[in-house]
Amino acid sequence: MELKQIGPKTFCIENDTNIGIHFTDDGRMYLIDTGSKGDGEKIDEILSREGWVPSCIINTHTHIDHIGGNEFLMRKYGIPAYCTDYDMAFAHYSELEAAYMNGGYPAEKLRTIFAHPGMIGFRSLEKETPDGIDWTYLPGHSFGMIGIRTSDDIWFLGDSYLSRSFLKQYTFGFIYNVEAYIDTLKKLKEFKGALFVPSHGIIETDIVPTLEQNLRSVTEMCGMICETCREYRGQDEILQQMYERLRMHARPAQHALLSSTVKSYLTYLQDRNKLECRFVDNIMKWRTQE
Ligand SMILES: [Zn+2]
Repeated sequence: MELKQIGPKTFCIENDTNIGIHFTDDGRMYLIDTGSKGDGEKIDEILSREGWVPSCIINTHTHIDHIGGNEFLMRKYGIPAYCTDYDMAFAHYSELEAAYMNGGYPAEKLRTIFAHPGMIGFRSLEKETPDGIDWTYLPGHSFGMIGIRTSDDIWFLGDSYLSRSFLKQYTFGFIYNVEAYIDTLKKLKEFKGALFVPSHGIIETDIVPTLEQNLRSVTEMCGMICETCREYRGQDEILQQMYERLRMHARPAQHALLSSTVKSYLTYLQDRNKLECRFVDNIMKWRTQE
């Protein structure tokens, strides 16, 4: 974890999940996201070293790699965390994220990996926004994800897009709603700001080329699925073809995320009449529309 000053009043702890630190004019300090489980203690070492005391946490969304350190920091400092109402449902119930990734009651391993902290003091951003920041909805990757703009004009954009380094490695990234994801990428192109901080990867001053790369990547994924479905294919076959084309060997947790993502792509393509689906020998299969 490396602490970097990125604006007059804003810092970033660069890590697998980037953590934002913003100071308001009256000296309060906000944390933006807290990384994965166990990261709270590491963030706290940096805060203690600098003599900083946070007054709240603002979460871009409540996926487990963004709120992993919340419980430790909220309890230690007696502070609230803010997120949107939609995402709060996932923070509040331990197995909800695993259940929606899995599409049914998840195995113990998934329940453990995606376990959420419960009702530990999340507050609604819709009802109350801490002074000194603005936020806007950026849905697609999660239900109620937001982008946060600090008073020194730095955007923390969560997982609304993939930074260039991640796009290479994770072309096939988790998306819940493909249509909303595309709309968010287009909306982001209009954003003005001094710096743009994604949750994973590189901070940039101009993200338009990266956003265009993200849009191309979604189009490529759609193309790959349509090509795979020249003949009727079941969901597992489609997923297998994607893994092979992208030379991937998915692990169980990643497989849960990506089978959920494939379903979202199938929905997107079916809703646009690019794919039709029917039962073949009692297996639901999809085929590209002529
Ligand atoms: Zn996420």
